[in-house]
Amino acid sequence: MGRANAAYYAGQDPFGDFTTAPEISQVFGELIGAWAAIAWAAMGSPAPVILAEAGPGRGSLMADARRLTARVAPEFHAACAVHFIETSPRLRAEQEARIPEAHWHDDLSGLPDGPLILIGNEFLDALPIRQFRVVDGAWFERHVSGTGFVEMPCDPQPGLPPEEADPQGILERNEPAERFVASLSQRIATMGGIALLIDYGGLTNPGDSLQAIRAKRMAPPLENAGEADLTALVDFGAVSRAALAQGAAVQGPVTQGAFLTALGILPRAIKLAAGRPETEAAAIMGAARRLVEPTAMGRLFKVIAITPTGFPPLPGLAA
Ligand code: SAH
Repeated sequence: MGRANAAYYAGQDPFGDFTTAPEISQVFGELIGAWAAIAWAAMGSPAPVILAEAGPGRGSLMADARRLTARVAPEFHAACAVHFIETSPRLRAEQEARIPEAHWHDDLSGLPDGPLILIGNEFLDALPIRQFRVVDGAWFERHVSGTGFVEMPCDPQPGLPPEEADPQGILERNEPAERFVASLSQRIATMGGIALLIDYGGLTNPGDSLQAIRAKRMAPPLENAGEADLTALVDFGAVSRAALAQGAAVQGPVTQGAFLTALGILPRAIKLAAGRPETEAAAIMGAARRLVEPTAMGRLFKVIAITPTGFPPLPGLAA
């Protein structure tokens, strides 16, 4: 999955196949920019501050956030040094066209030391999972062989009881996501900082959630490796435990709908739509609703913040 996605993000235009919240509405990035400015004030307004994004895609979220902070939070705006964690050369080029002053890194360890605000939207879901299946009370791991699975005896972690599998007997683990969150949380617990992670998923092992999208459609995940976007639901329970284990605190998860509604997405969209031609105004409102409505992206997507312990509640994250 890791190799297939690396090839996919490096070789294809992923946004021809799927869309994401920042591509749907500029309001998404704007609200996150405003959120980051408030989080920065709660950190004691450190200057400079590292404003980092993991997996920034086209750079739209950051461009929308920066446009807003330049206008409404000039001190925060001036204090920010923008850093991107991105492995795809192709997407790096798109990001550079929009945020030329950014700095790029292959992973978290490349970020300089110092106060940090890190954003990650649909980053963790792109990292490679492992799948396990319980057969007669024993764990097997699924490996890919040709276009099918072969299963070999293997415990997901030593001593894990078979009851941890879902009703179909499946357990999915995203160890790179857990490791990313653990390093991030260790840094936050020791050096300070805040992270905001947004992704689709739930609070437990998702079961078999591996999916592929190719040419805008669901496709068989094991076919055409490197030509489809492979993702899996994020287990926010596992992610939160990884953060807590490093001595950081977690706010949320809350649904994306609750988060964006608390940040004022609808009034902001109404303001943007005011005075525009009818079809344009309807598109602006429709895009904002798609992000918050439970049957669209509002319920499936969850939001958490990782902070040092004892940090005051951040906007939108009260359960
Ligand atoms: N956040 C963007 C893009 C989401 S797609 C948006 O919401 O539109 C996933 C992003 O993560 C892409 O930019 C992809 O190139 C990047 N990515 C995937 N795996 C990565 C890895 N292991 N390290 C760094 N970036 C990665």
